[in-house]
Amino acid sequence: MSTGLVPTMGALHDGHRALLRAARAENDRVVMSLFVNPTQFAPGEDFERYPRDEQRDRRIAAEEGVDEVFAPTVAQMYPAGFSTCVEVGSVGERFEGAARPGHFAGVATVVLKLLHLIAPDRAYFGQKDAQQLAVVRRMVRDLDVPVHIRAVPTEREPDGLALSSRNVYLDPEQRGRAASLHRALTAGDRSLVEGDVEYFDVVDPETFEPTEPRAGALRVAAARFGATRLIDNIVLVEP
Ligand code: AMP
Repeated sequence: MSTGLVPTMGALHDGHRALLRAARAENDRVVMSLFVNPTQFAPGEDFERYPRDEQRDRRIAAEEGVDEVFAPTVAQMYPAGFSTCVEVGSVGERFEGAARPGHFAGVATVVLKLLHLIAPDRAYFGQKDAQQLAVVRRMVRDLDVPVHIRAVPTEREPDGLALSSRNVYLDPEQRGRAASLHRALTAGDRSLVEGDVEYFDVVDPETFEPTEPRAGALRVAAARFGATRLIDNIVLVEP
C-alpha cells in the first residue's frame, strides 16, 4: 500500500491538479496537505492576505481522487515552545533565499514535519518552484529521509504565464505584462520582461549555483508586476 503526499498551501489551481494527478497515478493512497505555513513568509510578506478557500480546495481534492486532506492548524504544527528548524545551506542561499530571508528554513522545516507525519513513499513538488525542489531534494538526501521526491512540470496559462496562487493579486494590466516573464525566459533575454526584474540567471538545477548555459541547466527569474512578485524558470534544452 503506497502513499503519495502532495504538500500545498491551498488556493488550488491546475498546477496543483497536475501534482495530484501524478500522485494519483503512482500510489494506492493520496494525501494532500493544506497548510499556509507562516514560517516560510518573511515579515511584511503576504501571509495574512494569502488566498484561502478550504471548501473549494476540498472539492478540488475530491475531484482529483485525494483520499485524505491533512489540514492542520498553525497551533498544531507549531505549539508553544516550538524552536527547531532545518538549516538548508548553500542551495538555499541565493535567489529566493536571498530575497526572502528565512523562507527556505521555513519550507524545509514544514516539509520535513509533513514527511514524518504522513510517511509517504513519494512526495510531489512543482518544477515551478525549482529552488524549493532543489532544497527539498538536498534535505532528503542529507537527512536520510526515506521518500522519493517527484518533480512535476509547470502548468501554464495559454500565454505562458505559470499558474500561481499569487496571480489573483494581478490587475488586468499587470496580468497582461506578467506573460512577458515566460517569453523573456524562453528567449533568454532579460530586457523582454515588462516588469522590475530581481534576478534573471542560469543555474545548476541541483546546487542553484550560477552556471554557463547548457542543456539541463535552469534559467530562473523573479520580477515584480506592481506589488506582486512572480517567479518562473525553464529547463534549457540547448545552450
Ligand atoms: P503552493 O501551494 O504554492 O505552496 O504550491 C504547492 C505545490 O504546487 C508546490 O510544489 C509548487 O511547486 C506546485 N506548483 C505551484 N504552481 C505550479 C504550476 N504552475 N505548475 C506545477 N506545479 C505548481
